[in-house]
Amino acid sequence: MTAIILDGKQLAQDMRGELAEEVTDFFENNSITPKLAAVLVGEDPASEVYVRNKQIACQKAGIESELHRLDADTAEDDLLALITRLNKDNDVHGILVQLPLPGHISTERILRAVNPMKDVDAFHPENVGLLVQGRPRYLPCTPSGVREILRRYEVPTVGKHIVIAGRSDIVGKPLANMLLTRGADGDATVTVCHSKTSDLAEITRTADILVAAIGRPRMLTAEMIKPGAVVVDVGINRTEDGLVGDVDFDGAKEIASHITPVPRGVGPMTVTMLLFNTLQAARLQAF
Ligand code: NAD
Repeated sequence: MTAIILDGKQLAQDMRGELAEEVTDFFENNSITPKLAAVLVGEDPASEVYVRNKQIACQKAGIESELHRLDADTAEDDLLALITRLNKDNDVHGILVQLPLPGHISTERILRAVNPMKDVDAFHPENVGLLVQGRPRYLPCTPSGVREILRRYEVPTVGKHIVIAGRSDIVGKPLANMLLTRGADGDATVTVCHSKTSDLAEITRTADILVAAIGRPRMLTAEMIKPGAVVVDVGINRTEDGLVGDVDFDGAKEIASHITPVPRGVGPMTVTMLLFNTLQAARLQAF
């Protein structure tokens, strides 16, 4: 069996077309153009690429964007002052602080400073709390992209055993909460594994849907996957062979029923969900 490819790139393209129409409608009805402010501290090459991709995607969707570049040695208070200014700027609907921040800056303090209404990454404790309670204001972008892939490819989650490898605040934990939520896109039985999990393979082999969010190239191999399982690979690892996921794609595609590739999988969906959150932020702040 060769798995059906869950083509995140194509799906993202389709969804960005839908979004552009929604942005046009929103402007026609409200005379407001949604605007995203991105903040980049330092010159991390991967962050540069991510921020540039987000800006290009905004432009194509009719969303305004502005980039605030700060030196790597910027003081925490100066960054906080910029965030305060963006919080007060009525033309800015979404604020994105690109992570990771330099070590001398407290990420927690910065993320807490973003106005929760403008927190389109959904990292503020208020938005995390709302998500955990099952009444999210914004869905965090990568988990939301994963769920959208499952939804649009009509992969049911209700009653399924979903194993997530990785417990980060950005991917594993919020995704687990979303998939536990009552309703057609949730209602799963979720197991979250992490670096201290004993016998990972024993657990992953019980997954109807396996999500990899570890950050280790090709760590999940075919033997760790139940025949016919759906495999979603969030991992992005830079190797000598180029970008690879956390799943050994060549082996896994022979045993899974569906699988996301890397690249062209979850990555493009993450950016797409950020754009939808920015439009949602403009809607919430318009009324
Ligand atoms: P992270 O480093 O914050 O978390 C990694 C998690 O993996 C941790 O919870 C850790 O406990 C777990 N882990 C480590 N070793 C393990 C092991 N041997 N067995 C089981 N679990 C183990 O990473 P993150 O920010 O969640 O990102 C994970 C991966 O996803 C990275 O490759 C990252 O680049 C990628 N990522 C992709 C997107 C996207 O848009 N596609 C977005 C965010 C992150």
